[in-house]
Amino acid sequence: MGRIDRIAEPWGTRTPYGPGETWPTRVDSYLADGLDEHDVDRWVQSATVLHSNGDALDIAVKDGRIAGVRGRAGDRVNHGRLGPKDLYGWQANHSPDRLTEPLVRRGGELVPADWDTAMDAVAGRTRELLDERGPGSVGFYTTGQLFLEEYYTLAVIAHGGIGTNHLDGNTRLCTATAGESLKESFGSDGQPGSYTDVDHADVIALYGHNVAETQTVLWTRMLDRLAGPNPPRLLCVDPRQTPVADAATVHLAPRPGTNLMLMNALLHEIVAHDWVDHDWVSRHTTGFDDLRAQVADCPPERAAEVCDVPAGDIRAAAQLLGSAERLLSTVLQGFYQSHQATAAAVQVNNVHLVRGMLGRPGCGVLQMNGQPTAQNTRECGADGDLPGFRNWANPAHVEDLARLWNVDPLRIPHYGPPTNLMQILRYAEQGSIRFLYVTGTNPAVSLPELARVRRVLAQERLFLVVQDIFLTETAQLADVVLPAATWGEKTGTFTNVDRTVHLSEKAVDPPGGARPDLDILLDYARRLELADQDGAPLVTWTDAEGAFEAWKACSAGRPCDYSGLSYDQLRGRSGIQWPVNDAHPGGTERLYADGVFPTDPGYCETYGRDLVTGAPVEPTAYRAANPSGRALIKPAEYVPPHEPPDDAHPFVLTTGRTLYHFHTRTKTGRAPQLQRAAPDVWVEVSDDDARAHGWDEGDLLRITTERGSVEARLRISGIRPGVVFLPFHYGYWDTPGGYRPGGANSADGAHGRAANELTPTDWDPASKQPLFKTAAAAVERIAAGDGSPAPAPTTTASRPVRDVGTHTRGDERSLALETLPDGGAR
Ligand code: SF4
Repeated sequence: MGRIDRIAEPWGTRTPYGPGETWPTRVDSYLADGLDEHDVDRWVQSATVLHSNGDALDIAVKDGRIAGVRGRAGDRVNHGRLGPKDLYGWQANHSPDRLTEPLVRRGGELVPADWDTAMDAVAGRTRELLDERGPGSVGFYTTGQLFLEEYYTLAVIAHGGIGTNHLDGNTRLCTATAGESLKESFGSDGQPGSYTDVDHADVIALYGHNVAETQTVLWTRMLDRLAGPNPPRLLCVDPRQTPVADAATVHLAPRPGTNLMLMNALLHEIVAHDWVDHDWVSRHTTGFDDLRAQVADCPPERAAEVCDVPAGDIRAAAQLLGSAERLLSTVLQGFYQSHQATAAAVQVNNVHLVRGMLGRPGCGVLQMNGQPTAQNTRECGADGDLPGFRNWANPAHVEDLARLWNVDPLRIPHYGPPTNLMQILRYAEQGSIRFLYVTGTNPAVSLPELARVRRVLAQERLFLVVQDIFLTETAQLADVVLPAATWGEKTGTFTNVDRTVHLSEKAVDPPGGARPDLDILLDYARRLELADQDGAPLVTWTDAEGAFEAWKACSAGRPCDYSGLSYDQLRGRSGIQWPVNDAHPGGTERLYADGVFPTDPGYCETYGRDLVTGAPVEPTAYRAANPSGRALIKPAEYVPPHEPPDDAHPFVLTTGRTLYHFHTRTKTGRAPQLQRAAPDVWVEVSDDDARAHGWDEGDLLRITTERGSVEARLRISGIRPGVVFLPFHYGYWDTPGGYRPGGANSADGAHGRAANELTPTDWDPASKQPLFKTAAAAVERIAAGDGSPAPAPTTTASRPVRDVGTHTRGDERSLALETLPDGGAR
């Protein structure tokens, strides 16, 4: 039987289909060690975790170990397909350097300890601080990779038990703007669209969203439409020549930091040509006149100057949007990690609102997520918001939650907005936060301005707890390290960007003494003796299904209503899209099909913010302007980025991802096929800039900003001139530095390889999402290359503009199987 190298062909074989047809099934699988399906002892239901797409798969178990994966043919999300990270990434579970026992710091060293000792230290320090300094001294920083049940438990502990407002997820780096833009436009988080909109759309617009690398299976669906009859036309907005840009009808590559101006010009054209559904706008929205006034002075010529994009291209893009009959839009980090992130993302929503394109097949907005369970971080309140998309500024919502938890409403912090991560870090720096409990994330590589982050986390007075599966850069700085079980070793549910809930069952035991995050959190709550107002335990559940049942009660009646869902419904079947309740027992494919939005003042998740300043809208002002179930069209004025290039720093630095890695590479760096495809950091510069400076492929460059410097080998790629790109996956755990720069590439060891050595402490005012896309940088050549190309993939946006003599491909261990719709295999 044939096999396919899915490192060399990340998106696999085309299965074309036409508009309105069902996407054909193609089942992808990979089994290690020469096994075939007959060797597998059992298959265990799960879904993918190294991106946000939520592809359903089964885990192959052989002799009590994970032996491979196979896509689930009957699932609505992937129709059997898997991406390279899904096929190979699970091998990290078996890595010999998994944490298997707790560690505590003694005499400056992390030494093994038993669970009692470690948990007593964690709970003991929490209790001491609560007694001495109160709940404001305790903070939690979590992830987008735990399960729903774990987030909800954490939120109950933090909000209802400890009473701290200092709780956030690393989703702040990634999808805070997705959530905020949905709240601002529609009154609540929750994606209006569905992946099935790809099957119907005649135009797909991708804004700052290199879907080909971030959600490979979603791109596969788009590629299959492009290969079929009557394909959709694509609009791509991205400063890099991504695979999406290659396939686009119109590609706009704006100057980083100018997205809002570009969006205003597109809306200017839509209004000027009257591509507006006035009837829908008047029945279902408010604010159109404000938008019309705002964009009146943003013609394409003005945007062309600001964004450095030809006015004709902007017109062509607007024409695409204006002529669409079924428009699907997706948005990701190119928009989200910028200084006017929410304002720009909201304009994408506005395109749909003015065109009346929501709630029907092909007409959807997907404000994308980055991580597999980011949606759950937000809906459960583990990002600091109140669970169930409740509004912290609405006393009735706080009382509702207090009733559910049987606590005094005053216990639940709602004196102000939840403390976002960047503020949590600031409080830790200043000393008011003395305890930080980090679960499943690696801020010592992923946060901006790393030298500062390391200083804050390493402080003597800060008690740092890290719960993870490896001794990450952050864990190396901890006072206590708690070894966690991971995907495949525990049970729970999670929800992808189009609201599809999947169940992921435990397939194998975790290694050594590692424990599921849920068990560790339940243990923590028990040791703290967290109680309700009658003295009974606050956290009443003891396992994942019990936590899910508790969450169902919490979500009932809210937009993310899970009350009609159960583990049994999810077992053996396809994922199901929330809300699932009496009115929608089979789930809900698209939100807002009736044109009614959750903007009523008594129901909405937020009263909103000023998109330019971030100032909260006063409840009285919102109530007075009661939108009464209509969507909010919110315009915003463009302001220039905060750190423009200058003579000393003439380039704009932007950071991002590659197809083969996830986050700080803690898992993908331990999967041999993925690591081999992208083994080390590189820097991308355009051909124009390389020629102007006499640089060549493989030269060692030093990139410097006000915060620090990084050294990396040059890849001359299709990036916009004047812009340099660094992938942010590469930290120090596999270098002599351990958790900090210390000889990665540099002769003197003073220069880093983590992109976030360079990024600024700055954020979008509305979503508080940090900026990773605009920093002024200097670039110089340190050494000429030896003729070898940069360690960058050639299959992706980082592909070279000229032949460099090598191509990214796998080896014999990368051969996967595809079972095609006609029964054939490849
Ligand atoms: S890599 Fe970026 S987008 Fe993906 S999950 Fe991490 S922060 Fe989010």
